[in-house]
Amino acid sequence: MSSDNVEGRGDPVISERLVTWGLVEVDWGHFGIILETGVNWRSERDRVKMNLDPGIICYQHCEGRLFGFSLPSTCYVCDADLTTEPLNTPPFRVPYPFVRASQAPCTLVIKPSRGDFLHDYRSSSDLHIGVTDSEGCVLEYDSEGLHSDYTSAWTQTLSVPIITDATTNTVDPVWQEYWDFTLHTLARESTWSMERYSASSFNCYSFVLEFLQALGPPGLNVKNLTKTSLCAQLLVPHTSAAARYISLYRRLLTEKVVAVNKSS
Ligand SMILES: [Zn+2]
Repeated sequence: MSSDNVEGRGDPVISERLVTWGLVEVDWGHFGIILETGVNWRSERDRVKMNLDPGIICYQHCEGRLFGFSLPSTCYVCDADLTTEPLNTPPFRVPYPFVRASQAPCTLVIKPSRGDFLHDYRSSSDLHIGVTDSEGCVLEYDSEGLHSDYTSAWTQTLSVPIITDATTNTVDPVWQEYWDFTLHTLARESTWSMERYSASSFNCYSFVLEFLQALGPPGLNVKNLTKTSLCAQLLVPHTSAAARYISLYRRLLTEKVVAVNKSS
């Protein structure tokens, strides 16, 4: 499938069908969540542009699950007319794992050092990390020193919650205030200069580690935290889940449809 299809998806007949299904509960490996399929196609396409979500659709017919950038009018496996034939399960949009950093206040944010996750990400070794404050502003340490003026460049990031309550998805106001205080106090230190920066030994991870150690968030043993343990404990669970989406996206750039058997 060419990149034209990524931009030009949308079939008015199919979109009407999507609208009628509303909220659908799905379970697909790491992506087992409730998501919205009740969408207006035209405004949804605009939303895709805003969030960079390529909008991968999953639907089920015949033997397995099929993924594509749009719901085709006929099944690629059995050629059935999907505009009239009932599907085994309603189609749903595969949850896009990335956010804009500005939408993820009081979290750690990661993105590839070069390029973006969908097209350029290779391994956790080339990830750049920053911290957002309660306004969603990214503080990051790199060869230009510590700065917070590139937030708009963090458009496709993985957000790693540290003090967010997993049940309510909210941050305790007291912790939020302490997070900002700790972050901005640390950022004012002269340590984080461009002269002291070293890509191999004193880098973005050094800043985040020192921040976490100063913060001492609940449920995280920060005393012995190293770059390696930070990656293993906090980052890899997020990159592993996202890797599945990235792999699916890259396959769909060259294949019209990706089929996943029920057994796999
Ligand atoms: Zn079929």
